[in-house]
Amino acid sequence: MAEWLGNGLQNRLQQFDSARHLLITEAGRCSTTGFFSDMFNTDRVIQFTDIGEVTFHKSYRAKNYRIKVDSKGIVTVTVPVYGSWRTAVNFVKNNKNWILSKQAEKHNQPPKKAISYEELRKLADEAYNYIPARITELSEKNALPFASLRLSTARTRWGSCSFDNRISISIYTMLLPEHLIDFILLHELTHTIHKNHQAGFHAKLNELTGGKEKELSKELRTVTRTLNLK
Ligand SMILES: [Zn+2]
Repeated sequence: MAEWLGNGLQNRLQQFDSARHLLITEAGRCSTTGFFSDMFNTDRVIQFTDIGEVTFHKSYRAKNYRIKVDSKGIVTVTVPVYGSWRTAVNFVKNNKNWILSKQAEKHNQPPKKAISYEELRKLADEAYNYIPARITELSEKNALPFASLRLSTARTRWGSCSFDNRISISIYTMLLPEHLIDFILLHELTHTIHKNHQAGFHAKLNELTGGKEKELSKELRTVTRTLNLK
C-alpha cells in the first residue's frame, strides 16, 4: 500500500483550524459545521476535481498528515486529532501529482490472482504439514521461543508477531520457495525479541540469515510482486 508521510508538518499539529468555514465553503461537501460535531465526527469525504473522492480521517495516534492510495486507487488522508482540516485539504492539493501518479499505477496493475477453493485447501494442507514443524525447528535452533502459532489466509501479509509472541503465518507462504518461507519464519521469530523494524531487528535477522537479509528481502519483494496476491 502506497504511503506518503508528510514530514515537517508536525509543527502544525497543535494548530486548531480557525478558518474552518473556509474549508467548508471550498469543499462544499462537509456535512457538519458545529464545534461539537467537528470534535466528534472524525471522518469527512471531500470531492476533488481530478482525484475524486477523498476520505479524511482524524486519528488519535497519527503524528503526521498522511496520504494513502489503496489498491483500487481510493484516497484516504489521516489527519492528526489536533490537526486542521484546511491543512489536510491543502496537503492533498500540494501532493496532487503524486496521488494521480499512484492512482495511475494502481489502475495499470493486473487484477488480483484468483485462488480456487481447491487450491486454498491444498495450500492449507501443505501449510499445516510444514509450517508448525519448521518454525519449531528454527525456534529451537536459534533459541527464539514463541507463544503460539496460527495459520491464516491473509493475502496482504506473510506473517505477524503479537506483543506477547503469538505468531501468525499465512498459508500462502506455501507458494514461496523454501528459503523464502524460512526467511519469513525467521523474520517473525526475530520479532519475539525486537518488536519493531529498527537497527537491532535487522542486525539480528541478518545474523540469522547468514548475512543475507538484504538479498532475501529483495528476492521476497520480487516474488511477492510476481505472485500478485495483494
Ligand atoms: Zn516485521
